[in-house]
Amino acid sequence: MRVKPKSPKILLALAAVAVLIALPRLAAPAQNPSTGAPKQDTHGIVVANMDASVKPGDDFNQYANGGWIRRTEIPPDRGRVGVFTSLDDLSNKRTAGLIEEAAKASAPAGSSVRKIAALYNSYMDEAAIEAKGIAPLRPHLESIALIHNQRELARALGESLRSDVDALNNTEFHTPNLFGLWVAPGFNDSEHYAAYLLQGGLQLPDREYYLADNARMRDVRVKYQAHISTMLKLAGFTGTDVRAQRILELEHSIAETHLSLADNEDVHKANNTWTQSDFAAKAPGLDWAEYFRGAGLGQQKSLIVWQPTAFTGESALVASTSLDTWKDWLAFHLIDAYAAVLPKTLADERFAFFGKVLSGTPEQRPRWRRGVELVDGLLGDAVGQIYAQRYFPPEAKAAAQAMVANIIAAFRKRIEALSWMDPKTKAEAQAKLTTLYVGIGYPETWRDYSAYQVEPDDLFGNIWRGGLFDYHREVARLGLPVDRQEWSMTPQTVNAVNLPLQNALNFPAAILQPPFFDPQAPAAANYGAIGTVIGHEISHTFDTEGSAFDSQGRVRNWWTAADLAHFNAATARLAAQYDTYKPFPDISVNGRQTLGENIADVAGLSAAYDGYRASLVGQTAPTQDGFSGDQQFFIAFGQNWGSKAREPALRQQVMTDPHAPAQFRADTVRNIDAWYSAFGVQPGQKLYLAPADRVRIW
Ligand SMILES: [Zn+2]
Repeated sequence: MRVKPKSPKILLALAAVAVLIALPRLAAPAQNPSTGAPKQDTHGIVVANMDASVKPGDDFNQYANGGWIRRTEIPPDRGRVGVFTSLDDLSNKRTAGLIEEAAKASAPAGSSVRKIAALYNSYMDEAAIEAKGIAPLRPHLESIALIHNQRELARALGESLRSDVDALNNTEFHTPNLFGLWVAPGFNDSEHYAAYLLQGGLQLPDREYYLADNARMRDVRVKYQAHISTMLKLAGFTGTDVRAQRILELEHSIAETHLSLADNEDVHKANNTWTQSDFAAKAPGLDWAEYFRGAGLGQQKSLIVWQPTAFTGESALVASTSLDTWKDWLAFHLIDAYAAVLPKTLADERFAFFGKVLSGTPEQRPRWRRGVELVDGLLGDAVGQIYAQRYFPPEAKAAAQAMVANIIAAFRKRIEALSWMDPKTKAEAQAKLTTLYVGIGYPETWRDYSAYQVEPDDLFGNIWRGGLFDYHREVARLGLPVDRQEWSMTPQTVNAVNLPLQNALNFPAAILQPPFFDPQAPAAANYGAIGTVIGHEISHTFDTEGSAFDSQGRVRNWWTAADLAHFNAATARLAAQYDTYKPFPDISVNGRQTLGENIADVAGLSAAYDGYRASLVGQTAPTQDGFSGDQQFFIAFGQNWGSKAREPALRQQVMTDPHAPAQFRADTVRNIDAWYSAFGVQPGQKLYLAPADRVRIW
C-alpha cells in the first residue's frame, strides 16, 4: 500500500501496460507553488504556506497550508495539485534529461539506453503517428471480427489477459480486460509465486460509476455512451449508437457482479484457490479451458480467485450476452486502450472524456511529459538505474537508513508498551520488524529488458510488446522461489510502498529529497515530513491487511482472539471518524475503504513522533520562526498534505482510492495527544477530541 493516492488513468490507460505506468500526477508550473518561493532559501517548515489566522485546533489543514492554498491555482493540465508536485516535476525533468541524453548517445543496438531513446522518439514523432492512421489497430480489429463462436471468444478474452492489476502493493484493482492477473507470493505458500485473478471488464473507474443513482453519475454515463459511439465511429464502425448502447448495458451488468473497493481490500475474502476444473464448476459460461489456453496458462494447476462471485457473474454474462455485443466490447476496449498513441482525433476524444469529464482537467499534459511517463511505465528500471546513479548519493542513503532505524526502534518500544496485547502476539509483531526488508533509494538488482523489442518507428507495437513482455515475465515466474527484495516502484517515483506478502518496504530515491527530506532541515521537520511517511509504510505491516500476514509473509492469524477484538474495535472507531468527513455535502469519505491508509497515518505519525523525540537525546529542539520543535513536527506533517483538487477528480478519488482526501489526512493529528499540548488545543475547537475519543492503535 502506497502513501499517496494513485493518479487517475487519464492519458494512457493502456490495458496492455503494467500497473507501473505512473501517469502524470501533478503540475509543471513555472515557479514552485507547492513549497512557495521561500523554500529555496530556508530549510524546515515553510511558514509562508501557513495561515496563522486560523486556529490549529479548528482546521489544522488550513493552518498548515492556508497560505499555499490561497496562492495556488490548479494548472489547466492537472486534476489536482499538491506538495508532491514539485518533486514530481523535478523527477520528471531529470528523467526527461536522461532520456534526451539517451537519445543523443550512440548506444549499442539492443542496449537499454537505445531502447529508451527509441521508445521516447516513437512517441514524440506525431507526424509518423498521423501518417499511419489506425492501420496499427486493423489486424487486431480484424481478428476480433473473425470470432465466430463462444470458443473463439474465450480464446480472444484469454489472449487479452495482462498483468495489469496489483491487489496489495500498489492497490490497483482496475483492469478494462475481462480479468486481470497479479503474480505475487502465494497466500498459502509465501515462498513461491502464485497466480491471482481479479475481476475486470469495466472501462469506467469503478462499479459505482455504472450503478450510482444520482444526477452526476447519470450525466457521466450519458457522456460515456456518446464517447463509446464516437470512438467506434473514428475506428471505422457503422451503427455505432446501437453498439454503444449495448456495450454500456454489458458493462452495467458486469458492474453489478463486481465487489466494492472496500470488499476488495479485505484479504480474508480473497483467499480462494480454484483448480482449473473448479472454474467450469463454480463459474459456468465462459469456456475456461480455452480462456486459459489463450492466456498461456493452460498448465497452471490452480489460481487464487480474488472475487469468486464476480467470476461467477462475469462468466455467466459471457454465455448470456450476444457474441456481437462481446465483439463490439472487445473492439471498443482495444481502441480506447490505445487511443492515446493513435492519431490526434482519437487521442483527443479519449482525453475529452477521461480527462475533462471524469477528472475535470481542461488541458492535456505537454507531450514530452507524457513521453517521459510512457518510458517510465515500460522501461522504468532502465531509466531508474541511471537516475539513481546520478541523483542519489550514498550520504542520502545513509541518512535515510538512520531515520528508518530510529522509527523502527520507536515501533518496537510502542509494541512492547501495549498493555492490551498478549506477549505471544507481541513476539510475532516484533518478528515482523526483524524480517522486514527496507529498500532505500533503488533496488538491489535491476530488471532485464533484453527480451523487450523496441523499434524507433513503431509506437503501437512498442506498447503492445511492452504489455506482453511484462505479462510473459510474470507468467514465467509462477511457481519459482520469491525474491523478497524485489521492488515494485522505480527509483524516480515520488511515493513509497509496503509489500505485505514480501514483508518489505520501498522508499524510492525521488521521495528522499526536499521538501520531504532535507539533510539541512531541523530533525523536527524531517521526522514530521519523511519520518511520518516512513512510519506510515512500516505501520502497513500492522494495519488491517498487514495484520493478516506473519513475519514470513504467510496468511496466518497470529493474534489472540482478545487482541484481535481490541484491534478491530479501535480500527472501527477510526473508520467511524472518517465516515463523518464530507468533502462535498452529498458525499462522505468511506471509512472502511480508507481504513488501512488511515491506520497507517495515525500509527506512522505516532512512531515518527517517538523517533523524533528520541533523536533529541534529551536536548530541547531548536525553534524555527518562533515554532517549537513539536509544533514544527506537526506542521511539517500537515504540509505533506497541502493539496487542491478539481471537483470531479476529488469525487473520483473518494469513490476509487483507498486514500482519504489530503485535507482529512492532515487533520488526523487530532488523534495524537502531543498535538494537543503542542498547540494548546481546547475543548470546543472543531477538531478537539476528548482523550477517550482519540483513536490509539499502535
Ligand atoms: Zn499507505
